[in-house]
Amino acid sequence: MDLRFSPYTLELRHAFGIAGSTRTSTPAMLVEVEHEGITGYGEASMPPYLGESQATAAAFFAQAAAALAGGLARDPFQLEDILPAIDALAPGNLAAKTAIDIALHDWIGRKLGAPWHRIWGLNAAKAPVTSFTIGIDTPEVMRAKTREAAPYRIIKVKLGRSFADDRAIVEAVRSETDKPITVDANQGWKDRDEALAMIEWLQGRGVEFVEQPMPKERIDDTAWLRERSPLPLIADENCQRLADVARCAGAFHGVNIKLMKCSGMREARAMVALARALGLKVMLGCMTETSCAISAAAQLSPLVDWADLDGALLIRNDPFEGTTIVDGRITLPDWPGIGVRRRG
Ligand code: MG
Repeated sequence: MDLRFSPYTLELRHAFGIAGSTRTSTPAMLVEVEHEGITGYGEASMPPYLGESQATAAAFFAQAAAALAGGLARDPFQLEDILPAIDALAPGNLAAKTAIDIALHDWIGRKLGAPWHRIWGLNAAKAPVTSFTIGIDTPEVMRAKTREAAPYRIIKVKLGRSFADDRAIVEAVRSETDKPITVDANQGWKDRDEALAMIEWLQGRGVEFVEQPMPKERIDDTAWLRERSPLPLIADENCQRLADVARCAGAFHGVNIKLMKCSGMREARAMVALARALGLKVMLGCMTETSCAISAAAQLSPLVDWADLDGALLIRNDPFEGTTIVDGRITLPDWPGIGVRRRG
């Protein structure tokens, strides 16, 4: 099996502000695996604060390419052997591992002539609506972005810089729409009593849940908050891989699963199953990504309570077409594999 890779820079439609940073582009890598005349596509999206880069991904892909060419993928269907071996090549490198996982799933689906939601036995008609994310900005810009978000049914708002700013942001969005809002504090709230007061204030403003209210190291304070919070708390930074799901069970009401942080579709599906067994709600999220990785995640979406798969809507140079958002709902094409085509 051949593995090819090339750097790609995702250009954002708007500067994207979260609690810790603001940026206008996201480094990515596009990969292809080719075997028996069939090509599968994959992608790694690497927001800089997570520590991977095009250089680290290229080094990892070179290692993985040697392993795949050396016979690891003699039978590409054997994902239960291949993907743990890829995972064991080096620690970390989760977005790079995800790119290979996606490309192998795409290859298998194309070989079978079936999309993954069908291989998994899922009903595409049960795919949820997706939220549309508005990054941190001035209240004036937040109002303009809220108006632009008119086609979407749920607005996700990034909070966590200060409680005063957070209130101003929510008021600005609320002045433009009465749609449900979800909020993501990105670990920004440091005091549990203030966080509780903020969540109680948000509950009166049509907010459905709060993502990662406190720093990931403060899981005991988050557990305290969970006992008192009138809104569900969803783990994001606290929940990266399969083993983290169990650790989140006492401190959160649900988990946000993203392909780029968990190593891909195979592990994400296991995380959904474990979360369900532990009585947790499940959200499916993303980074800024092309329609390649978004479409791969969307294959799982009939299994989840909430989706935040707007990543491809936030960029202006998407080289793929695939999953679309129709009337706010994730809409899966019937194309095989992860359901994408290269544009042009
Ligand atoms: Mg988040």
